[in-house]
Amino acid sequence: MSSSSGIQIPSRLPLLLTHEGVLLPGSTTRISVDSARNMQLVKSRLLKGTSLKSTIIGVIPNTKDPEHDGEELPSLHRGHYKLLFIGTAGLAVQVVGSNWPKPHYTLLITGLCRFRVSQLLRERPFPVAMVEQLDRLEQYTEGEQLDGELGELSQRFYQAAVQLVGMLDMSVPVVAKLRRLLDSLPRETLPDVLASMIRTSNTEKLQVLDAIDLEERFKKTLPLLTRQIEGLKLLQKTRKLRPDDDKRVLAIRKGGVFPGRQFSLEEDGEDEDGDDMVVLDRKVKEAGMPEPALRVCLKELKRLKKMPQSMPEYALTRNYLELMVELPWSKSTTDCLDIRAARVLLDNDHYALEKLKRRVLEYLAVRQLKSALKGPILCFVGPPGVGKTSVGRSIARTLGREFHRIALGGVCDQSDIRGHRRTYVGSMPGRIINGLKTVGVNNPVFLLDEVDKLGKSLQGDPAAALLEVLDPEQNHSFTDHYLNVTFDLSQVLFIATANTTATIPPALLDRMEVLQVPGYTQEEKVEIAHRHLIPHQLEQHGLTPQQLQIPQDTTQEIISKYTREAGVRSLERKIGAICRAVAVKVAEGHKLSKTESSRVDSDIAAPPEMPIVIDQIALKDILGPQIFEMEVSERLTLPGVAIGLAWTPLGGEIMFVEASRMEGEGQLTLTGQLGDVMKESAHLAITWLRSNAKTYQLTNIAGCADPLEGNDIHLHFPAGAVTKDGPSAGVTIVTCLASLFSGRLVRSDVAMTGEITLRGLVLPVGGIKDKVLAAHRAGLKRIILPKRNEKDLEEIPGHIRAELDFVTAGTLDDVLNAAFDGGFPALSLTHPQITSKL
Ligand code: ADP
Repeated sequence: MSSSSGIQIPSRLPLLLTHEGVLLPGSTTRISVDSARNMQLVKSRLLKGTSLKSTIIGVIPNTKDPEHDGEELPSLHRGHYKLLFIGTAGLAVQVVGSNWPKPHYTLLITGLCRFRVSQLLRERPFPVAMVEQLDRLEQYTEGEQLDGELGELSQRFYQAAVQLVGMLDMSVPVVAKLRRLLDSLPRETLPDVLASMIRTSNTEKLQVLDAIDLEERFKKTLPLLTRQIEGLKLLQKTRKLRPDDDKRVLAIRKGGVFPGRQFSLEEDGEDEDGDDMVVLDRKVKEAGMPEPALRVCLKELKRLKKMPQSMPEYALTRNYLELMVELPWSKSTTDCLDIRAARVLLDNDHYALEKLKRRVLEYLAVRQLKSALKGPILCFVGPPGVGKTSVGRSIARTLGREFHRIALGGVCDQSDIRGHRRTYVGSMPGRIINGLKTVGVNNPVFLLDEVDKLGKSLQGDPAAALLEVLDPEQNHSFTDHYLNVTFDLSQVLFIATANTTATIPPALLDRMEVLQVPGYTQEEKVEIAHRHLIPHQLEQHGLTPQQLQIPQDTTQEIISKYTREAGVRSLERKIGAICRAVAVKVAEGHKLSKTESSRVDSDIAAPPEMPIVIDQIALKDILGPQIFEMEVSERLTLPGVAIGLAWTPLGGEIMFVEASRMEGEGQLTLTGQLGDVMKESAHLAITWLRSNAKTYQLTNIAGCADPLEGNDIHLHFPAGAVTKDGPSAGVTIVTCLASLFSGRLVRSDVAMTGEITLRGLVLPVGGIKDKVLAAHRAGLKRIILPKRNEKDLEEIPGHIRAELDFVTAGTLDDVLNAAFDGGFPALSLTHPQITSKL
């Protein structure tokens, strides 16, 4: 081809050898430059040069493996003539330097025309050569018509190119521009331009570059073009089959300016905006929303389409719509409820908890009979670690429903439940709606964990928001502030858990049916450990029963010496600790402990014995010295100490009450974290004792009949910083003071609970089962409780009842008689007999 007419490139060109693809005339590409040779070229030619000429360089594709590309230009000498001698003269449009991760330049180069190296002038510091221009480079004029065979070929090529562009989405500006360019560009430039746009390998591009002859070039490029067209057709066919994938097809990098940028007609990850809207639109229609929600969505969608993407509101609206389409408006799972199977499943998952399991089964049975049950919300109340959450999970499993736990502890903002209005920056839906989005169905089991720990703040009362959620009469039209349309929650099965009912707001409590889950007895814990916790922990640590065995005795030791809790959570942790220790040994292939090996030191070389059995010594090795001791009897060696039973949200506890007296003016000092009710009980106790001092021969230090005369009394409730309150310590305070004033010791194996009145009656109290279990844990033998609590004893397992001696007391007289060895006789038998009328 003649190069005599049109624009001439300089005849001396510096050469840039690049591994990065092939620059074809008419396309623009970025080339990263980091080899010493090329860096030199950039520095001394492109950065120093001032004329337009100096920005023209020869770009030669380097087919050599970059690893072995040294300082030399060996390939030039060894002569891959065909490849190396032909290159593209390019105009460096932009040079960007950077130091990271190593010094390099990035060049933006537009290809002008082919050239052939006619003579290499020098090689260092960068090659410079005499070149011969191969393509005609013209100012944009009407390209002259090609004729003959070439004309026909170029016409076919042009038509194929038009067909290809026609398959793209014309509404994208860059495609429209490309279409216009096809007509205005001279035909002979089309092969180069299209070859650099469509999907071609470097080798194919090299072949195009090598095709100096125009006819050959057309012939080389046409099949590539046809291939791309076929590929697109195939893609469009699959698109019809899979409508969801619309947006991925025909994605074109946005904003490309021809020929200043390369196109890629293949699909790539970037979403095309217009397509996205179509998808969103369809999703909205397919989401199965009720009419009002659909109307809101369509309105928002309409607004979104008109909004420029740069507007902050665009993202907001889009997020909103995406949430709306994801919500399970009409998606639900089918309940598969078989009461017999449910019973087996609950029994398999949980040992003990009979009462709770019975009630749960009743509840499920009623649901089976009447599916649209607007039944009560179950609320499991009990100490931590007694399996409340885990029963909730089992219920979901028996019903075949999704399970989602919403932790409410510490939530003090009502928008946590109900969401923020969309006008706020960063607004989002509340936890209920979020939970529904997570589970993806509209009838999951939601476990509202720790409803007793809801807080209150200036941001409103979350408990009040929960009222609406939990009320079966209202929750079919629950409105989240973020959604601003109603969502039907009536299919959701709510279960709540709490440690105590005391801090649950009354209105909320009223909506729920409270099921008490008391703590476990020692024996129950041993069973739970062996049936559930140990197998579970073994599995978690990748151990088998053939490797680790924990005998029952050891479990009992763990329970009594290393844990003190109503539930089984720290027991589970301790078992986990044992498993970890054994896992190390198993992995090492050693014996369990030094102590063990010393016992069998006669055969030190013996292989590790499996299973490793955890005995007392091993237990001490792993868990350290015992944490809790039975200190009860030691503390009761002085007058003025008595043991009470307290109920806390963490289960029952034994509580020591200590009293001492000294000379003073009849002051009463109370210490220990006490609530008001407890202080009142202390005053009541003192008053009753003073008024009955004569009867029981109670005296002050000096032996005077008024115990307070010239004496100060100090009452202390040790153990912990936990605030103790409630009326049930009354009898204990009386007993403790009676011991102090009489100088007699309270029996060391007796614990008591009960509220007192000024007249000396003992009133019933709550939490009997937990309290009795705590006393039993502590190894006490006799328990004094109010007469009217006798019925509560039925809840206590038979074997524990058998081990304890229960004394029911109607009056304080009964209490004192039972608390002291040999009774606590009253002197005057004329003391009027009091009978409870309460
Ligand atoms: P809570 O919710 O009452 O604080 P969890 O349900 O989290 O307690 O229970 C703590 C752990 O104790 C769980 O691993 C659970 O499986 C186990 N667990 C508690 N009670 C039982 C039981 N009766 N039978 C079997 N495992 C139990």
